[in-house]
Amino acid sequence: MRAMVLEKQGGPLKLINLEKPSPKEGEVLLKVVACGICRTDLHIMDGELKLEKLPIILGHQIVGIIESLGKKANRFKVGIRVGGPWLGKSCGHCKYCISERENLCDEAIFTGYSRNGGFAEYVTLDENYLFPIPSHYKDAEAAPLLCAGFIGYRALKMVGNGKKIGFYGFGSAAHLLAQLLRYQKRELYAFTREKDVVGQNFARKLGAKWAGSSTTKSPEILDGAIIFAPVGELIPIALENVAKGGKVVSAGIHMSDIPSFPYHLLWGEKCICSVANLTRKDGEEFLKIAEKAKIETYIQKYPLEKANEALHDLRKGKFVGSAVLIP
Ligand SMILES: [Zn+2]
Ligand SMILES: [Zn+2]
Repeated sequence: MRAMVLEKQGGPLKLINLEKPSPKEGEVLLKVVACGICRTDLHIMDGELKLEKLPIILGHQIVGIIESLGKKANRFKVGIRVGGPWLGKSCGHCKYCISERENLCDEAIFTGYSRNGGFAEYVTLDENYLFPIPSHYKDAEAAPLLCAGFIGYRALKMVGNGKKIGFYGFGSAAHLLAQLLRYQKRELYAFTREKDVVGQNFARKLGAKWAGSSTTKSPEILDGAIIFAPVGELIPIALENVAKGGKVVSAGIHMSDIPSFPYHLLWGEKCICSVANLTRKDGEEFLKIAEKAKIETYIQKYPLEKANEALHDLRKGKFVGSAVLIP
């Protein structure tokens, strides 16, 4: 099979021909039909996240058709289309796993990070961490639901039910959640890079009540804010814009250092927290609500062998929505 392989951190990915993997017990072999690109892939390639396994195939928003079943794999039939997300496996018995927090499992295995992912023609995955994909989503359009959607949805639950919500950064996850907020009749205030007119117009198109630069004071006091951009400076800025009792949630796996800030920005029972990974319940809930809210994904397709170009374009903010690789 053809695969885009990360041999050393710093990149780039290399196109290599590898043996097609065979599914172990409880696993299935997927023929990959689309794989979304996430900012986490960029953090892994750049070495901002430590890797335990090299070489590795990145990619954790995998849409694939089940081609064969490993021993004891009986959840799906051959030919079914499924999605493979970031959480590849959890231990099932630690204090986190038994309290509906498998996203925090110490022994979790992450797809495209601690086991091979979907920047390839084939991948094997544990059947119990896969999701059937709603039929009205086309293959490539479904891919961004699997991380941008799932983990974004977890961040939105974390920020609470407030009416006025701020997003800092308007990329893959934000463009999906904007549509969910519109469906829930809540107000979105979208903060983007300075002079990012394209991003701000995109946010308005998807229902943002207001869009502007992240250095601008919010026109309304926010009930909560989610930081999607990996920029620590945004935390005190967001705190300044949220109401008493409001939360500032950081949705990314990596962020630059948070600068020190005066205590009065946190005063009034404001909270800062991060969102880590996903549980299978997050995924199931999100796929249901995505269908109900008619969330559309805006994608930019690249052939598999153009993965480096796609990652570069993501870094430069060259497209709106999500990049998706097609093997
Ligand atoms: Zn991701
Ligand atoms: Zn566990």
